Amino acid sequence: MSSAANILILATGGTIAGTAGSALKRDYRPGQIGISTFIEQAESLGLDANLTGQEIAAIGSEDITPEIWRSLYRACSNAMVNEGIDGIIITHGTDTAEETALLLDLTLPTTKPVVLVGAMRPADAVGTDGIRNFLNAVRVASDPDAAGRGVLLVMSDRIISARDARKAKTSGVDAFKGFPRDAVGTVTPSSLDWFGEPWAKGRAARYAMPTDFPHVPILYAHAAMDRSAVDCLLTDQTRGLVLAGFGDGNAPEAIFDRLAELAEAGISIVRASRVDEGLVDRIPLDSQHGFVAARGLGPAKARILLQVLLANGISAPEEIQAAFDKR
Ligand code: GLU
Repeated sequence: MSSAANILILATGGTIAGTAGSALKRDYRPGQIGISTFIEQAESLGLDANLTGQEIAAIGSEDITPEIWRSLYRACSNAMVNEGIDGIIITHGTDTAEETALLLDLTLPTTKPVVLVGAMRPADAVGTDGIRNFLNAVRVASDPDAAGRGVLLVMSDRIISARDARKAKTSGVDAFKGFPRDAVGTVTPSSLDWFGEPWAKGRAARYAMPTDFPHVPILYAHAAMDRSAVDCLLTDQTRGLVLAGFGDGNAPEAIFDRLAELAEAGISIVRASRVDEGLVDRIPLDSQHGFVAARGLGPAKARILLQVLLANGISAPEEIQAAFDKR
């Protein structure tokens, strides 16, 4: 009997499965190659793992939907209780990989490795990063020590935790960064090194996967804005709002006044930053109006966490703040 790990690959598309038709063309289409091509390529390189694939979607990840998220969640949940599966890999476009990773991190238990992987160059580009990232992801998902670290993202030989991961560059194979922690490990097709021990071994799922994602718009701060910028984002269904504020979650006085009115009316307000890196700290306005500081989460991921909390019936500002404060 082989001791090779049994890995389930859930494919969703993205550049990792994209082709241009010519290495010299700039434009390409994501989600063109079936997962079997990756499996065949990995096997032809002599990989010591049993790979099975399941296609969940074939999209550019800008088109990800709550339905696809729920399909991914269901497939991962089934794999978690299937004794024949040791680890899960999700191939994903890079544009929204951090949002999918955080959503699954919040809603899945940490009993088996779950690894998102993408690529910045299409599969037929010169120097494509797809197959290398994929082999790296297989190495990570095959390691029992990858469990207990939440959902992980593997790109450019680095392993980044879902909570920390963000796409920080529009192009280049090193497009992903981690904040506040950089990588939690490094990986190549021939090596794997973790920085520290798993921190959440055997942790149960923290929240239920939402059946409905509440309406939570993001308000992007800019110079010379007025309250109409807030009002045009609101619908009758709006349950929360994330401010992509200046600096450490700052906004013009007129905007904070409007947000205070919304908080008073029961809409959860989270202050994040339009700046790429740094913590958003609590300020006196927060306790005054019931605002929440996003801490290390950027606006897009703060939105995911707020949606999950609201869908799980958590709406008191101090409870929301506690969830944002957690690592
Ligand atoms: N926009 C596409 C996506 O996110 C392609 C970008 C990529 O995967 O790098 O799926």
